Amino acid sequence: MHPDTCLAQIGNNKAEKTGAISSPIYLSTTYRHPRLGESTGFDYTRTKNPTRQTLEDAIAQLEGGVQGFAYSSGMAAIAGVLGLFGQGDHLLVSHDLYGGTYRLLEQILPRQGITTTFVDTGDWQKVEAAVQENTKAIFLETPTNPTMRISDLQAIIGVAQRNGLLTIVDNTFMTPYLQRPLTLGADVVVHSATKYLGGHNDVLSGLAVAREQELADRIYFLQNSIGATLGPQDAWLLMRGMKTLALRMDRHQENAMVLAKWLTGHPCVKQVYFPGLENHPGRDVHIGQADGYGGMLSFEVVREELVEPLLRHLNLIAFAESLGGVESLITYPARQTHFDVPEAVRNELGVTSSLLRLSVGIEHYEDLIEDMAQAFAASERELAE
Ligand SMILES: *Cc1c(COP(=O)(O)O)cnc(C)c1O
Repeated sequence: MHPDTCLAQIGNNKAEKTGAISSPIYLSTTYRHPRLGESTGFDYTRTKNPTRQTLEDAIAQLEGGVQGFAYSSGMAAIAGVLGLFGQGDHLLVSHDLYGGTYRLLEQILPRQGITTTFVDTGDWQKVEAAVQENTKAIFLETPTNPTMRISDLQAIIGVAQRNGLLTIVDNTFMTPYLQRPLTLGADVVVHSATKYLGGHNDVLSGLAVAREQELADRIYFLQNSIGATLGPQDAWLLMRGMKTLALRMDRHQENAMVLAKWLTGHPCVKQVYFPGLENHPGRDVHIGQADGYGGMLSFEVVREELVEPLLRHLNLIAFAESLGGVESLITYPARQTHFDVPEAVRNELGVTSSLLRLSVGIEHYEDLIEDMAQAFAASERELAE
């Protein structure tokens, strides 16, 4: 089946007794045992919950893996999967990645004896050169957040396989509708489902999927032991959002393309980062491994002084953290998502104090352009006074 069909059908045909089309929400935390030594398959909700399982089966099917896992947040999913590693292990990680993951790798995992080298995963040879004797995995995002750098998944997976490493991909920006790293040989995919999968800025959640059963069993053991699982009401809300992912994503990327082109021609804009633009580095690699460009873009304004008034004058586009919802949001990475990344490192990555990130929503693109145009004009007037 096509992903659109899988998405629309999530949870349907599961409630055999009632025929309910919308998946029931099982709030029960515990389940009666028929008799000693017997189980219905459900015992205690942290271990397994019917509503959560419907979601976990859906994401596994969408990503092309054997088993899915739902967590209380994207960070819980990432921390849960990184629980595979311990004392003395070393990880290779995209140098340009989500700030929260950077914080986890820099400030928490070293306490557990896990070390990380941040590398440019856009260049597989640099990744291969950074492999150490104790390296256990490569963790990457593509496109990256916020400068939309592209990594060649097939080449990175090749490095991992030659060196006996796991490949873990944060697929939040693309979603399985546009990119399925497990089908290219990655071992684990993680998501902040808070973003496009949920899609409505109303449910915090994370997902992981493993390609093979042996690894799935280890991730399941960690999920159940650590316990940061997704509650049944949130699992239902996430599935409700996922049903329309295909339609939303199509509109997100249509709008993003229009906005990227419009911004490129604006005199206040120095640089636009969007994989759909002809001159975007890595565009050909991206087209070879994904079915679209997504709805995220970032742009650098010509002067840092424009940032503050611009954010203040936008009316429709909300100045807020997060991404992937139906409402357009603008983020200032240097002060928000990437605040924990040292300034020198940020500048090296292009996450300068003049960079803004736009999560393009599903509104009419003319209204988005009009809002941007009036905010730029008002900001320029103010600075000229
Ligand atoms: C938001 C985000 C996360 C963290 O997810 P939460 O749901 O906020 O915990 C991880 N990776 C990426 C790429 C994100 O955008």
